[in-house]
Amino acid sequence: MREFSIFRRGDGGYEAARLDAVWNERKPARFPEVIVVAEDEQDVVRAVRLARAEGLAVGIRSGGHSWVGNGVRDGGLLLDLSRLTEITVDPVAGTATVQPAAKGPALNELLAPHRLFFPTGHAPTVGLGGFLLGGGYGWNSRALGPACLGIRAIDVVLADGTLVHATDTTFPHLLWAARGSGPGFFGVVTRFYLDVHPRPSKILRTVHSYPLELRDEVLAWAYDTLETLSPAVEFSVKVGFSPGLDGHAVSLTATAFCTPGTGDDLLAPLESAPFRDRAVRALVAQDTTLAELYDIADRLTPAGLRWAVDGVWAEGPVEEILTAARPVLDAIPGGSSFVLWMLWGHYPPRPNACWSAQAKAYLSPNSGWTDPARDLEHESWVHGSLGSVQHLSKGLQFSDNNLADRFDLGLSAANAERLEKFRAAYDPDGLFRTYMAPDESTTAYALNTRP
Ligand SMILES: Cc1cc2nc3c(=O)[nH]c(=O)nc-3n(C[C@H](O)[C@H](O)[C@H](O)COP(=O)(O)OP(=O)(O)OC[C@H]3O[C@@H](n4cnc5c(N)ncnc54)[C@H](O)[C@@H]3O)c2cc1C
Repeated sequence: MREFSIFRRGDGGYEAARLDAVWNERKPARFPEVIVVAEDEQDVVRAVRLARAEGLAVGIRSGGHSWVGNGVRDGGLLLDLSRLTEITVDPVAGTATVQPAAKGPALNELLAPHRLFFPTGHAPTVGLGGFLLGGGYGWNSRALGPACLGIRAIDVVLADGTLVHATDTTFPHLLWAARGSGPGFFGVVTRFYLDVHPRPSKILRTVHSYPLELRDEVLAWAYDTLETLSPAVEFSVKVGFSPGLDGHAVSLTATAFCTPGTGDDLLAPLESAPFRDRAVRALVAQDTTLAELYDIADRLTPAGLRWAVDGVWAEGPVEEILTAARPVLDAIPGGSSFVLWMLWGHYPPRPNACWSAQAKAYLSPNSGWTDPARDLEHESWVHGSLGSVQHLSKGLQFSDNNLADRFDLGLSAANAERLEKFRAAYDPDGLFRTYMAPDESTTAYALNTRP
């Protein structure tokens, strides 16, 4: 049998493999005992059995885009799935399969000749593994739903080292958990089976940039206007850093994923915004492509910076939310920092998915910087300033914050309780790592706020 790649702490290659597991330039000061780089499913089975035999808790890395480096924990075994990137498409059935480290652009490129589409993450480098498990808010998710609801089946290696195929009828609890538990999933998914969608007939994009003094007016108008827009329009406001503009600005962006017979009309409501004549820059219903959208997202959160991201779902009288959010909005640091006000609206939860925390708007501070000496300043803004909105929070996205630096609910209370029941049944010895505890965080913010 072929030897698999294994690095024990102190081996040559160990540190490179540890650092490579985290895309963020802000690497955690956590050190697994063993790192296994799997080449295929059988390696995953062997690694899980090795972990059991040696009593090592298992952390998982697919695309490595967890902002907090979730897979890299102190001690235990880091299972690196980055070589598992296979994708297949069945155009007749309208399905695709992806291994966990496959990326969105590769999937959509294979779907395109069949006029098919999947709502992958906005940035092109995000791994589908963590994205799908964590909920997955991707391109056109307002119409198509969070990506996790498109998982029709999974292949999973369980804590006892067996590889099983889970559907809504065989192992339904496993599949229920895979649809939204994020870093709390209790197995290793080696393949996702996805339902895919018709490709948009065209994509149009409107972007208006406004001066900062219009901030609250634009945010409130966007919130109130959401219901008048088709779900085929992805809609957000960004306050702060804007590539190509000097200084901070308020950018209103609407992207229409058209079906035959729809077009500019989807974006027309933006042109009657009461402050429209004050835009300092405007693109109106421009034809664009998915490749261009990935590129825009990549430029907003480029690699090579130290990134911290967090967010809360919020809903209610918009003035109340914006008043509470002042400490977030008034203190955006310089450099590549911004607040996203994503207007996802409501997508109804489903009984076959544990995904269950969403509200109308998602308020998300994102900070990117280079100097490690400024970690505390940026992290305090990202996590600490959200304290002012906490009383209005309807939950967080596991994909942005894995609980260690700020606790919030990522699932409904009932689903969180059910998830722990299933975990106890499938992983009674706690072989797989789950959500991060505050004392596992090695950020400057955690070290400064921990009692
Ligand atoms: C630049 C950037 C842009 C982003 N854009 C978006 C976006 O548009 N929409 C969105 O929803 N999110 C977005 N995210 C968040 C992203 O979806 C999550 O961080 C996601 O977890 C990344 O998946 P990954 O496989 O690359 O990460 P990894 O770090 O490899 O995985 C994160 C965790 O997910 C779990 N996991 C991953 N794979 C498996 C598996 N095969 N089996 C079991 N558990 C597994 C593990 O707990 C793992 O530690 C973005 C992140 C970045 C850095």
